[in-house]
Amino acid sequence: QKLRSIPKESFLFGPSPIQFLPRLSKELSPNGDVKIWAKRDDCNSGLAYGGNKVRKLEYLVADAIAKGCDTLVSVGGVQSNHTRAVTAVATASGLKAVTVQEKWVPIDPPLYDKTGNILLSRLMGGDVRLNNEPFHIGHKTATAQAVEEVTNKGGKPYYVPAGASDHELGGLGFTNFVVELAAQEKALGIFFDTLIVCSVTGSSHAGLIVGAVAEGKNRKVIGIDASAKPADTLAQVARIARSTASMLDPKLEIPDSAVILDERFHEGIYGIPGPSTIEAMELAARTDAMITDPVYEGKSMAGLIAMVREGSIGAGSNVLYVHLGGQPALAAYSSYF
Ligand code: PLP
Repeated sequence: QKLRSIPKESFLFGPSPIQFLPRLSKELSPNGDVKIWAKRDDCNSGLAYGGNKVRKLEYLVADAIAKGCDTLVSVGGVQSNHTRAVTAVATASGLKAVTVQEKWVPIDPPLYDKTGNILLSRLMGGDVRLNNEPFHIGHKTATAQAVEEVTNKGGKPYYVPAGASDHELGGLGFTNFVVELAAQEKALGIFFDTLIVCSVTGSSHAGLIVGAVAEGKNRKVIGIDASAKPADTLAQVARIARSTASMLDPKLEIPDSAVILDERFHEGIYGIPGPSTIEAMELAARTDAMITDPVYEGKSMAGLIAMVREGSIGAGSNVLYVHLGGQPALAAYSSYF
């Protein structure tokens, strides 16, 4: 199929592990009606703790190298997992990285700009540049300026948009995730009817939708918005899903019904946990010792928990929590715990 013919680097250990979560399942569904599993993309790579961006960047870095680029330029918040991953894949590929780190989260807890992800980027020798721009998932002026600066100095920049999402190759990593998942399901003798995934810049979610629609097995992909700007995220998810699908197979149509974004769990603001986030993080940690973060995965975990409790993920379901990473930010949020 077309996907296999698109060049990619190899940054992952292999298929990310799939794990049954017995204690969380029992806690939420005491009579065993709902089984909760996780696919651990937080453990997918040896490059600076891995995570969803490393999977997406396999495709973008192959493109950057093919085009003779020497510097990846990207953007995120101060505690961006994405910019840490960009710096990691650049380093491991012999490229340079310039990352613009903006004030996406209007808080300043102790060491917020010194520990966690940004510490890792500095440790890897990344060129980290802080500014005061607020959160949004679109293209930013400061990255355009950084691209120009690299060019003026004689380098060849490769621009990676926020989250490696709004890019022609951005949806491929998580389309491939579904191919990988299908092979694992075959070996396990199980089918995950529902996938739960955190969605902000949208290409993780979009890639899963493309994979699921292409399979045609009636798998439901539920995105949990953590951007607190769900209209922007929903539009971006739909756009990336459709452009990725048409690149892979011009006949593959993504119906509106396949694009589901639940807006109940973002707590009103990007990057700050609220009570349901904290409760979800504690529950996952205190049952199956599965660690989530306060910006992304804690919010998608809150969504999963609520859906099992309210019965919208019903009896007989095998639900797969798509764990996208994010734990390195935890240290910057110690004051919430
Ligand atoms: N989870 C983590 C840990 C992330 O770093 C991100 C990045 O934005 C997301 C979820 C959301 O993924 P996406 O930006 O592809 O929507």
